[in-house]
Amino acid sequence: TLDFHPTGRHFLQIPGPSPVPDRILRAMSLPTIDHRGPEFALLGKRVLSGMQKIFQTKHPVVIYPASGTGAWEAALANTLSPGDPVLMYETGHFASLWNNMATRLGLKTEFLGLPGAEGWRRGVQADMVEKRLRADTQHQIKAVCVVHNETSTGVTSDIRAVRKAIDAAKHPALLMVDSISGLASAEYRHDDWGVDVCVSGSQKGLMLPPGISFNALSPKALEASKTSKLPKSFWAWDEMVDMNKTGYFPYTPNTNLLYGLAEACDMLLDPQQGGLEAVFARHRRWGEGVRAAVKAWSLEIQCVDPAVYSPVLTGVMTPEGIDADAVRKTIYERFDLSLGTGLGKVKGRMFRIGHLGDCNDLTLMAALSGCEMGLKLSGVKLAGSGVQAAMDYFAGHPAPQLLQK
Ligand code: PLP
Repeated sequence: TLDFHPTGRHFLQIPGPSPVPDRILRAMSLPTIDHRGPEFALLGKRVLSGMQKIFQTKHPVVIYPASGTGAWEAALANTLSPGDPVLMYETGHFASLWNNMATRLGLKTEFLGLPGAEGWRRGVQADMVEKRLRADTQHQIKAVCVVHNETSTGVTSDIRAVRKAIDAAKHPALLMVDSISGLASAEYRHDDWGVDVCVSGSQKGLMLPPGISFNALSPKALEASKTSKLPKSFWAWDEMVDMNKTGYFPYTPNTNLLYGLAEACDMLLDPQQGGLEAVFARHRRWGEGVRAAVKAWSLEIQCVDPAVYSPVLTGVMTPEGIDADAVRKTIYERFDLSLGTGLGKVKGRMFRIGHLGDCNDLTLMAALSGCEMGLKLSGVKLAGSGVQAAMDYFAGHPAPQLLQK
């Protein structure tokens, strides 16, 4: 096979898996230990309490040796029963996949959303959720499922507003949130926002390789799990939550990924670095810089509502007649840079630039240079230099922690 790029580091600028910091790679290279031995319990307790801080919850967090899709299934299987009506909201490709899964599991889903292309360019419309729940006077709907950061489009959703909508309708449905790509990059507050189950994964903001995923619970979700009738065994919360109290897991956990997770929690929560608030600010600033580039190119951003621009990734639409995947291929082959493909309805119409994981201003500048060169090579007429605009933004807006020094 042809090795296009024998030297230098590949630029993994897809919106997950994200680049893994060396500190985490080193932590994961430790010898695998006995998962029933005394040393393991310390690791187990460390990652479980670390993840409670990352989710901002006092309630249990469950860790699965599985990708995010597994944790999606766990959220539904632990709380619902066959035939339960569930309200899901279409923000993009991942919301659609979760909806498909719920249907396959035997739930009666209703897929709410804005008509046409609009739905994939805006966040969850909380007023639509409220209206639908008010109409459900018999309280048949058992859960409302929304995606916090829609990775296929670069649009976030206001989860607090969805909670308010459910409360305003005085509806008892559970609120389930997919923050697989939001957690540890975009602001997320589990208890404060009143979320019942949050699903997340390792390969995005947590800066780990793929392979572990999470459910953050609420007391109401735990209560629902006692009567839920969907079949579950591997995913069942009860044994997990019970054994986790002593730092152990009912079946073999992903030990080396947990070493990495412990390191990631230390990095993300480090008070010297400003903790989670600094993490959220860092990604907001990177999003601003990347969008400054896209605007200078005069290309369209997939998200049309500035209030919900994603701090995790930016979806860039290519002009009519330009295949976004052909642009991505050129950029990959020429500059060793991977960008996210358009998924589902927007395939070929957009590409995605990730600003998550082990990034900094200069790695993002390199990624934007690759984009700008590749767009030009693909015959896209650019209004101006996005690279210059992003340099101006980053130089003109020092990172918050540098301002404090
Ligand atoms: N939900 C969202 C928002 C995602 O971004 C992804 C993966 O990119 C998934 C669900 C599916 O997770 P996984 O591919 O880890 O199974």
